[in-house]
Amino acid sequence: MATTTTRTKTIVNCLECGAMIAAELDERGSVCLLGTEDACQCGGREFRRLR
Ligand SMILES: [Zn+2]
Repeated sequence: MATTTTRTKTIVNCLECGAMIAAELDERGSVCLLGTEDACQCGGREFRRLR
């Protein structure tokens, strides 16, 4: 059986600067930012899911 990783695309909001960033959620609900490292451009690492 293949192991599939279920990821859900979402939008998160940086708590530091308010930027909205495309991200994915893994099955544990961990946020994985798309196209960047695991921090916002401002260096913030705290994010809130918008949906
Ligand atoms: Zn930020």
